[in-house]
Amino acid sequence: MCSVGDAFDIDMDGKLPVKDYSCKDCGTKFKGIGKNVKCPSCQSKNVAESK
Ligand SMILES: [Zn+2]
Repeated sequence: MCSVGDAFDIDMDGKLPVKDYSCKDCGTKFKGIGKNVKCPSCQSKNVAESK
């Protein structure tokens, strides 16, 4: 059992959260940071946040 690790999911000041996205055009799944996220594969901004 691991007794540490609870602190790793805390968002720290000055760091943007990394979210999972999927591209609606080509289906690529990737991680994006910030607001202007675009697909690394086809450069499309037609992406959706996925969980
Ligand atoms: Zn794409």
